[in-house]
This record gives sequence, structure tokens and C-alpha cells, in this order.
Amino acid sequence: MIRSTCGIFKANDGRSTRGSAVSPANREDGAVERVQAIRGMNDILPDAVHWWQLVEKTAREVLELYGYREIRTPVVEKLELFARSIGESTDIVEKEMYAFPDRKGQWLALRPEATASVVRAFIEHNLQADPLARKFYTIGPMFRHERPQKGRYRQFHQIDAEVFGIDDPMLDAEVMVMLCHFLERIGLEGVGLHINSLGCPACRPSFREELKKFLHDRAAHLCPDCDRRRHVNPLRVFDCKVDRCREALVGAPQLVDHLCGACARHFEKVRGYLTGLDVPFTVDPRMVRGLDYYMRTAFEVVTDRLGAQNAVGGGGRYDGLMRDLGGPDLPGIGFAIGIERLILLLQQGQSLAAKTPDVFLAILGEQAAIEGFRVVQALRRRGIAVEVGYGGGSLKSQMRRADKLGVSHVAILGEEELQKGVIVLRNMAEKSQREVPLADMTGVLGAVIPLARDGRRQ
Ligand code: ATP
Ligand code: MG
Repeated sequence: MIRSTCGIFKANDGRSTRGSAVSPANREDGAVERVQAIRGMNDILPDAVHWWQLVEKTAREVLELYGYREIRTPVVEKLELFARSIGESTDIVEKEMYAFPDRKGQWLALRPEATASVVRAFIEHNLQADPLARKFYTIGPMFRHERPQKGRYRQFHQIDAEVFGIDDPMLDAEVMVMLCHFLERIGLEGVGLHINSLGCPACRPSFREELKKFLHDRAAHLCPDCDRRRHVNPLRVFDCKVDRCREALVGAPQLVDHLCGACARHFEKVRGYLTGLDVPFTVDPRMVRGLDYYMRTAFEVVTDRLGAQNAVGGGGRYDGLMRDLGGPDLPGIGFAIGIERLILLLQQGQSLAAKTPDVFLAILGEQAAIEGFRVVQALRRRGIAVEVGYGGGSLKSQMRRADKLGVSHVAILGEEELQKGVIVLRNMAEKSQREVPLADMTGVLGAVIPLARDGRRQ
């Protein structure tokens, strides 16, 4: 076990453990080794973060329009929560989970998805009693130990929506319509909505048996994983990404042909609501999704512009999950969108200007600094983003910095201006400048800055 002493981690028997927590910072040649981020876990740098802010803001707006309220759950949960909900024989639980024992030997996991946590929180806080608590959303990081590549990372982010207690097929359609509404509002084009019905505990067992028979005859063509899966969880074979397994599935029985009456009616109504709103969709009889808890409606938003990573988001109905996790027997439905993939797609179609400050204040002299500092604060209180020439320096060097920042205006305050009670205001686009009385400064900029912002947005 690892103990912390004065911020330094050591194995508590004094010896290093396997994959020791800390390697020496200083190499023999005296150079200091850098600590790097973990593979597949990315920094989101300020230059890219405006895309994230746009996506998150738009998601909140759309979700709240449909009555969803935000919930935030921990990123670490007991391993058992995911093993029991997602399913022991899914890729996520078998291969992709970051699971580890804590200092007391309890098995924990970094969440690979959000549904299980939101369901757990709903049960734990007895939210059933709150009439407003039916629709939830959460936005945050998820963790899966996959092979990192474009659109596939080990820490990635999802926008996740969940609804409990409503089994009306209109809701299934509404959830998909909302997802499309969000994607449209954010400007994503060229994606398709694929839907399927996965049946229910009444109709799935007989389908499983038929599929098992089909897979038995093709066992020699399956990858080793699928050869095992065909016994324990044959539906998972549909989710395998190995080419030869996909080929082996040609002619396989299809769930949509084996639905019981109730599931068939439900699926028909869902399609009817989508058609009624002119939402285009494709029925994909092979789509099973990577989590065991789905039943009846399953859906995915797919693209052909991200190579192998063709799913932007997906979800489905999971009516038995809350009961199986020890809660009330309430139906559930939800989806998750991968933010990284969404942003990769958005960036293919449009550019988005990074946010820059509005004004740069160049300061010349110590007295001017005191007055300048006051002006800066007054402007910021008016909602104008100001950057300052900290430390003074020559006017030339301060102007160079202002230019690099891309501000629309530079205000210049030196001892001479101070004595006259004015400030020089330079319009960077027009390359013109004028003197403005210090007392009028916030009013003048308060009027010109919104116009300059609009101009830059066009
Ligand atoms: P895939 O089939 O691509 O592995 P998935 O079915 O495992 O996706 P879900 O569990 O349905 O994905 O998660 C919903 C969305 O989250 C995906 O559509 C995708 O946009 C995103 N996502 C899933 N795994 C990753 C990952 N490792 N890196 C980046 N985004 C991911
Ligand atoms: Mg996956």
C-alpha cells in the first residue's frame, strides 16, 4: 500500500511497489524528468475550450427546454455498481474499466458512463418523491481503457440525459427528437439516426436461443471473444467490431422479427411519432449497443466522417435497471453524446473565433498605473474584458502585445494624459485615435465595445 508523508508517496514497507508511485525526478545526468499526462487523457487548452463552452451551453439550453434538470455525481463509484448495471460480459466491464482497490481494499472504478450513477443517486436520495425529478442531465468526464486514437480516448466527456418513470413511447421519440434538435441547434450536419428494438425479457430469451444456434454453426469464423460470448451473452456478438465477426453475422436472425406483441406495438408507435415530426431515421436491426441494460428502443446518431469512430451518441430504454439496482420498479430511458467526437465533427464544418479581450490598457508611468488600475476595474464592472500592460514598459512593446491579443481598442494612459484628465483611445481596426475625458471613459467604451464585438463576430 502507498502512504503519503509530507506530500511524498512511499510504499509503507519502505520498498518500492510494482510500478512505483514516484520515479526519481532527477536523472543521473542531472536533467529533471518531466511528468507527462496519461496516454489517452487530454488537456483541453484555452485555444480549444470555446468549442467546449459552446457545446455545453447549447446542451444546457436545449435540455432545460425539455424539462431536464442537472445532476452531478462523483466520478468514482463502487465497482459493483457498473458490473451489475452495464453487465459483466460487456466490453466496458470486461476490458475497459479503470478499476482499483482503495487503501482499505474496497474495489472502486472510475465511471465509464453516467447512467448507473444517476440511477444510483435517484434511488439513494429517494427522488421518486419529488414530482420535478424525472428528467436529468449531467455533463462530465468518463473513463475507459481503450486504445487511444482519433475520437477514442481514455478520458472522454459525455453529455448524458436520463428520464425515469415514463413508459410512453412518445417519450422514446421525444428523447431522439431532442438529441436531433440539439445537434441541429449546434450546427452539426450529415449525421443519421439509427434505431432498433431490443425486445424485452419476454421475447429476448427465445431470440437468444435462435441466435445461439446460428452462431454455433459459424463458430469457426468468430473471433475468440465472440466464440466465448456466443455462450454467455450471444447478443454481444452484434456489437463486435472485428470484421470477420461482422461477416459471420450475415443472414443472422433479427430481433425486430422476434418481438412480442407489446414490444412490436411500442416500436411501431415510436416510429410513428418520429415520422409524424418528419424526423428521418433508419431501422438498423443489428444495433444492440454496448451495454446490457437496454431493452426495447435503442438508438444511435452516426456519422461517416470520423473513420472507425462512427457513433456520436447513443442511448435507449432500460426499464428493469432501477429495480435491478435495488430501487423502485420505474422505467428509464437515456442517451449520451461524446463531446470530443461532436467537436471533431463541428470543427470540420466551421470555425469559431477564440474569445479575446476587448480592450488593452497601456500604462506609462507610476502615477498613471494607479489611475489606470482604477479605470480597468471600472471597465470590468461594466462587463468589458480588459487586459493590462502589467509592469509598464515602452509604449511600443505594449502596443505589440495588444496587437497579438487581437483587441479591438487600446487605451493609453501616460503622465501627460493624466495631467490633462484624458485617456487616448485607439481603434485598432480603423487605426484611428482620439482623446476621451477620463470621466467619460467607461461610458464611451460601454457604447463602442458591443459594436466592435458584433463586427468581429460577422
Ligand atoms: P463505440 O462503439 O464507438 O465504442 P460506445 O457504444 O462504446 O461507442 P457509448 O457507451 O454509447 O459508446 O457512449 C456514447 C458516446 O460516447 C459514443 O457515441 C461516443 O461519442 C462517446 N464515446 C464512447 N467511448 C468513447 C471514447 N473512448 N472516447 C471518446 N468518446 C467516446
Ligand atoms: Mg465502446
